[in-house]
Amino acid sequence: RAKAAGGNNVLLFNTDMQDELTKSSELQRDMNQSIADQDFVIHLQPKLNRDKQIIGAEALVRWEHPTKGLVGPYDFIALAEESNLIIAIGYQVLQRACEQLERWQAEPASAHLTIAVNLSAKQIWQSYFVEEFIAVTEQYNINRENLIVEVTESVLIQDLNDATTKLSQLKEFGVTISLDDFGTGYSSMSYLRSLPIDELKIDHSFVKDINHDAQAYLVVKSIIDLARNFNLKIVAEGVEEEAQFSMLNEYNVDTYQGFFFSKPISESAFIEVLKENQRAYPLPPRKQHQQVL
Ligand code: C2E
Ligand code: MG
Ligand code: MG
Ligand code: MG
Repeated sequence: RAKAAGGNNVLLFNTDMQDELTKSSELQRDMNQSIADQDFVIHLQPKLNRDKQIIGAEALVRWEHPTKGLVGPYDFIALAEESNLIIAIGYQVLQRACEQLERWQAEPASAHLTIAVNLSAKQIWQSYFVEEFIAVTEQYNINRENLIVEVTESVLIQDLNDATTKLSQLKEFGVTISLDDFGTGYSSMSYLRSLPIDELKIDHSFVKDINHDAQAYLVVKSIIDLARNFNLKIVAEGVEEEAQFSMLNEYNVDTYQGFFFSKPISESAFIEVLKENQRAYPLPPRKQHQQVL
């Protein structure tokens, strides 16, 4: 091809670039096959309340690649977004999450748990996104009140009206809307004012430094105040140390997620962690989604 197009074009591709292209088209081919084979699974990262009781989990996608083993999102989400395959993968994640809810809701000890799925902008921009999302959830015997969707500001910036309409419709169906990675994007008051958001997740990059960086601490404190004024529930993500948990707890952050408690784990590992957690903190968890009206 390069030859036919003229000798000069050869210079446009060095070997590294050619390798990258070959690698990404191979990966894309594998991805297509894996979508057909349902090789996309979820791992669960526990979310805790202020009393350190597990109240739910975030579902994080993992690719069970036929030869490479378990591949994490940082190694394939960008390509999945570029190729639009994230749309099909996203529906697989939603299916796995609904199956998980169905199993949890069948047992009294886990019936109260929530599950959160991450949505890509590409999914939301689809014309029939809401209809398809609802259709998927209706295939399962679940209480949709326990389903959370996480969206980032990038989803919203392109077409705020479209995002607002669609997320409002999901919310009417009982789904909770969470704004992920808050503070890293084009955080704007207009989002908070117009979007039907229930919950705000403080990005881990701010949480990381709260104990030794006055600026990071001020950012977190401002985000918390902002969220309170908009009656939003606050989740801190990327909590790695007990000291960070304590500090955020002093500011009444509602929910905690991070390595200080657990990394994302398989379903069976999650059940064990839940049992242990319920032994350690035996009181029934406070009711979820208590909106501070
Ligand atoms: P996210 O939604 O912000 O998810 C949190 C990420 O932070 C997860 O990485 C999690 O493992 C990691 N994390 C959790 N606790 C800690 C901590 O204490 N310290 C640090 N340093 N990291 C922590 P993961 O699983 O690799 O996912 C990365 C990103 O990929 C997610 O960020 C999300 O944006 C995206 N992603 C994951 N699953 C899906 C999915 O199903 N669909 C879409 N569209 N994106 C997804
Ligand atoms: Mg997330
Ligand atoms: Mg996040
Ligand atoms: Mg993040």
